[in-house]
Amino acid sequence: MNNFMLKRSRATDALRAVYSVIYPNKCLFCRRVMDDKQAFVCLNCEFEITSDEHYVENLNWLYIPYVYGDEVQHVVHRFKYGGAKALAKPMARAIYSRFPDVYGDFLLPVPLHPNRQRDRGFNQASELALELSLLLKIPAMDGLSRLRDTEKQFHLSREQRASNLADAIGVKQGFDVVGKRIILVDDVFTTGSTAVECAKVLKSAGATHVDLIAFARA
Ligand SMILES: [Zn+2]
Repeated sequence: MNNFMLKRSRATDALRAVYSVIYPNKCLFCRRVMDDKQAFVCLNCEFEITSDEHYVENLNWLYIPYVYGDEVQHVVHRFKYGGAKALAKPMARAIYSRFPDVYGDFLLPVPLHPNRQRDRGFNQASELALELSLLLKIPAMDGLSRLRDTEKQFHLSREQRASNLADAIGVKQGFDVVGKRIILVDDVFTTGSTAVECAKVLKSAGATHVDLIAFARA
């Protein structure tokens, strides 16, 4: 199984170091400077944009601290498109502070299609999984693949989304999920379809339990 360990790039470590020097302790969302050096989200934002939804079909439990809105959108946009890979650390911290007791056999990022990963240079879900792995002391693995590129999901109906994703995700050959308790990781749980499809694939491959950690839900 060690072949499937998710590895951190050196560039990420360098960015992390730079990030921690340049930025004072600001709220991840409103960017107000906080007195509490350990906090990642100010009390106001924590109160305003908290999500308490924990259940969706095919996933056993959702660990999602925030609801998607302007504040979350800014953070996720910077994370995805602004090259701000180092945001994975405070985002993971914010998740961990809400859900420190997550447990399972391993973390598994929702895969990005190789074409899109090449364009962006990284999979944001993998970056989050690596940071969460350090905090939760659960190994992060790289065991799912995108078999073909899927259309952008948001303009499709629920049925179209499901058929669009059918057979688009697979468990990597040799990656053993039988009897495992797996925690999927994604940045945003939008329509739910991609993570749900991953859960279906994992369960039909023998996983007994599939949860999801995401930073925010739509
Ligand atoms: Zn704030």
